[in-house]
Amino acid sequence: MAKVLVVGGAGYIGSHVVKELMRSGHEVTVFDNLSTGQEINLFQENRFIRGDIRNQEEIAAAMRGQDAVVHLAAKKAVGESMENPMKYSDNNINGSLNILNAMVEAGTKYIVFSSSAAVYGMPEKEEVDEDCPIAPINYYGFTKAEIEKFMGWYDRLKGLKYVALRYFNAVGYDADGDIRGREVNPQNLLPIIMEVAEGKRDKLKIFGSDYPTRDGTCIRDYIHVSDLATAHVLAIEKLMSGMPSQALNLGTGSGTSVKEMLTAAEQALGKKIPAEYAPRRPGDPAVLIASAAKARELLGWEATYGKDERGMVSIIRTML
Ligand code: UDP
Repeated sequence: MAKVLVVGGAGYIGSHVVKELMRSGHEVTVFDNLSTGQEINLFQENRFIRGDIRNQEEIAAAMRGQDAVVHLAAKKAVGESMENPMKYSDNNINGSLNILNAMVEAGTKYIVFSSSAAVYGMPEKEEVDEDCPIAPINYYGFTKAEIEKFMGWYDRLKGLKYVALRYFNAVGYDADGDIRGREVNPQNLLPIIMEVAEGKRDKLKIFGSDYPTRDGTCIRDYIHVSDLATAHVLAIEKLMSGMPSQALNLGTGSGTSVKEMLTAAEQALGKKIPAEYAPRRPGDPAVLIASAAKARELLGWEATYGKDERGMVSIIRTML
């Protein structure tokens, strides 16, 4: 049993991490400023501190007595990060440095950090392993890559041990229905498809139909959020039993195209979902699939939700 501070624990991925940590018997404190996280995502069993990582004193006070941190508090809209980099410097970079400094001060040794496939930018290989060059093409991805480097230095200089989990495309919700907050104004493919299905939006715009893929639309590695969550618990436990600092991809290792996702949603919902082709979105690689071999080897972790279209249908059912 470890005392774990989950920073950003009221958010989409954070709340799923909290649930898995509790299931494994850990003592959880959630720290969140509720800017995008929601009170409805909190579990009664946990201590909750409403605080902001940009406030050094607040995060330092919360850190005292903690064995480990899971850090998921970040701004994550790629477009916004290009228009307002200052906000991303402040929240993602300064906030993360406050967390690392608070850890040194409190003697908290372990951190699991929510990183992103965005650190790879436009990778040359379709199946991306952790040795692919770190070359972000947007400011959001840059902040994630920089924080990974800061953690590397804090390891060398202060013995802090970290796992950076590079998420591919997180999708779905807790299958037991325990986590009820839904993202407001979602920007990602699957929540947008769901909003079209509910009539909140007119049509899905499929960004690009002439990519060099099996059906001309982009391919991504969609990974269920509960699978992501279990990897965080394993990462903490492995770090505490001596695993060295690592960066690990979290994906299923297989890809689904935009059109295949749309078909899976139509199947899960039993109705046609209006869609039209639109121009390519700048900065979208044609194919982005994780090599998940390293996480399998080091954490003994694997995605449990299916990797094919049937798997996508079952993931979409968790969103209903
Ligand atoms: N996409 C799309 N229409 C949308 C939103 C996304 O066609 O309204 C495509 C997008 O071009 C990409 C895939 O869906 O190929 C996943 O996009 P998302 O923004 O969810 O995640 P990303 O891979 O960019 O992190």
